[in-house]
Amino acid sequence: MRIDIISAVPELLSGPLDYSIVGRARKAGHVEVVIHDLRSYTTDKHGKVDDYPYGGGAGLVMTPQPIFDCIQSLQKQRAYDEVIFPTPDAPVIEQQKVNELTLLNNIILLCGHYKGVDQRVRDELVTLEVSIGDYVLSGGELPAMVLVDGIVRLLPGVLGDAESALDDSFQDGLLSPPVYTRPANFRGNTIPEVLTSGNHNEIRKWREQKAIELSKKVRPDLYNKFINKS
Ligand code: SAM
Repeated sequence: MRIDIISAVPELLSGPLDYSIVGRARKAGHVEVVIHDLRSYTTDKHGKVDDYPYGGGAGLVMTPQPIFDCIQSLQKQRAYDEVIFPTPDAPVIEQQKVNELTLLNNIILLCGHYKGVDQRVRDELVTLEVSIGDYVLSGGELPAMVLVDGIVRLLPGVLGDAESALDDSFQDGLLSPPVYTRPANFRGNTIPEVLTSGNHNEIRKWREQKAIELSKKVRPDLYNKFINKS
C-alpha cells in the first residue's frame, strides 16, 4: 500500500511516522508513506497557500491552486483509490471503515488548515471525507496520522501475535475486556482467578462477559447494536 500525505506543515508528520509500528511497517516495506510539502506547489511568489474567505469573516481558507496541482500531478503518476480529506464536518470514521481502507492500494490524505480548504477542492478532487471525532483540531496532520496508524497496523504482516488487532475494541462490535499482566498480586491487588485457571473456555466466557459489561456501562450505543444483532 502507498499513502501520500499532502501538508502545508510537513514537519509535523516527518518524525512520528518514523517510529513504533508505522515506522517498522515502513522499514519492512509493508507500506510506503510519502509526505508532500504543499508549499512547493504554490505559484504564489510569497509561497502562500491560503487567502481571505469570500464573503468576509474570520480566518483563512486554503487556496485551490497548490492542492489541485499537487493532487493532479500525483494522479498522473498512478491511480488512486481514494483522495481522503479529514475534516470535522464529515461522518465520524469507525473501525469498519478503517478495515475497508486497508484493502486499498494507493490513497492520498489531504491535511487542511485554518478554516479548511476551498470547497471546489472538496467538490472536484476529494472522494472521501472523514472526521476523527466531534472536536476541532488546528490542522489535518494529527487526523492524517490517526488514519495512517489505524490502517497500517491492520496491514497483513505488520502486527505480530503479541500485538494482534483481532480482539481489539470494535472489531466484534464491543469494547475490549480488561487485561492484566504479571505480577498476579501487585501490592495486594490481585487479578481475577479465572485468568490463571488454564481453562480456556472459562477465560473466553469471562472475557466476553467483561466486554459486554464494559460496553453496556460506557458505550450503550455499541451494546444496544450488539444485543439487537445477536
Ligand atoms: N472550519 C472547519 C470546521 O469548523 O469544520 C474546521 C477547520 S480545522 C480548524 C482545520 C483542519 O484541521 C481541517 O480542515 C481538517 O483537515 C483538520 N481537522 C480538524 N479537526 C478535525 C477532525 N475532528 N477530524 C478530521 N480533521 C480535522
